[in-house]
Amino acid sequence: MEKRDYYEILGVSKDASVDDIKRAFRRLAKKYHPDVSKEPDAAEKFKEAQEAYAVLSDESKRRQYDQYGHAAFDNMNGGAGFDFSDVDLSDILNDIFGGGFGGFGGFGNFGGFGGFGGRGNRATKGRDSVVRVELSFEEAVFGCKKTINLNLNETCGECNGKGGHGSKKCTQCNGTGMVSENKQTLFGSFVSQSPCPRCSGKGETFDKICNKCHGSGKVRSNKDISVTVPAGVDTGNQLRIRGKGEAGSNGGPNGDIYLEFSVKSHPIFVRDGNDIQLSFPITISEAALGCKKMVPTLDGKVKLNIPSGSQSGDILRLKGKGIEDVNYGRKGDMYVTLKVIIPRKLDKKQKKMFEYLADSGIDKDKEFDKIKKYM
Ligand SMILES: [Zn+2]
Ligand SMILES: [Zn+2]
Repeated sequence: MEKRDYYEILGVSKDASVDDIKRAFRRLAKKYHPDVSKEPDAAEKFKEAQEAYAVLSDESKRRQYDQYGHAAFDNMNGGAGFDFSDVDLSDILNDIFGGGFGGFGGFGNFGGFGGFGGRGNRATKGRDSVVRVELSFEEAVFGCKKTINLNLNETCGECNGKGGHGSKKCTQCNGTGMVSENKQTLFGSFVSQSPCPRCSGKGETFDKICNKCHGSGKVRSNKDISVTVPAGVDTGNQLRIRGKGEAGSNGGPNGDIYLEFSVKSHPIFVRDGNDIQLSFPITISEAALGCKKMVPTLDGKVKLNIPSGSQSGDILRLKGKGIEDVNYGRKGDMYVTLKVIIPRKLDKKQKKMFEYLADSGIDKDKEFDKIKKYM
């Protein structure tokens, strides 16, 4: 078949400007775009216009065409001619259809075209739910078993989620679940698809609507599930429990449950990731002379060796006495911060002894030495 002249296709003169060409193509695209047009040979016409536009809107291709005609592109693409299928028209189609095109063919965003858009009877996964769970410090550190109460939509057992008994093909949508509607817009008439109102997109109707779920196929259920919380979880951590969430639709899988933990604080231990901090009081003589003290840890008391000459604020590490990592199982450490308690009240004898200690060599202390110069 003889190819039509590109200028003729677009209905513009040989000296048409780029703007003229664009305008002409826009007009034809509106008229013949296969997704909106009802003309019998719209797809052919659109393809033709698309090809003409691709050549004439490109300065160098237009020059070749003006010189050699269609022959200019005959030897391209292995003799099959210029391949126009990947010409990016998103720009101009955006202009026409108001955005949302990710390149040609991106009609999915346009709602219901080309098989996109929600078919009412498609199997869909149930919604995921987040359930907040409060844990004591110890429950989080050591792990625990928890009973979680869930209030969710479940598949109706009475009708197996179908919503009724004695199913028949819906007469309004002929079982497709979708109905089409012509919409008049500024750019011509569009076919818009929406879920069938008679069968709510299911494609079938029933002799008898299920009296347990009233046709929804789902029932609200309140149930307890038992979960094992792993050792080491912390505030904000989530634990996914697959398939225990809301029921899916049309045979789709159940959603998931996400347990999100919130961990209460401890009266003496402060958590820092997998490490534990403890502020530990000692007397002034314990600090000066050194001592062995029993200190509380997450798993019982351990003996801590406090060296002589310890200062308030000194930190001693107890390796591996922290929290088990929730993923790797490796244990963190515990850090004991010494807090030297200065007596608030002294009896006569103690007072004498502190007076005796008054000049206990502070001038030999390195820190004191640094400051001394400024005093
Ligand atoms: Zn229907
Ligand atoms: Zn039911």
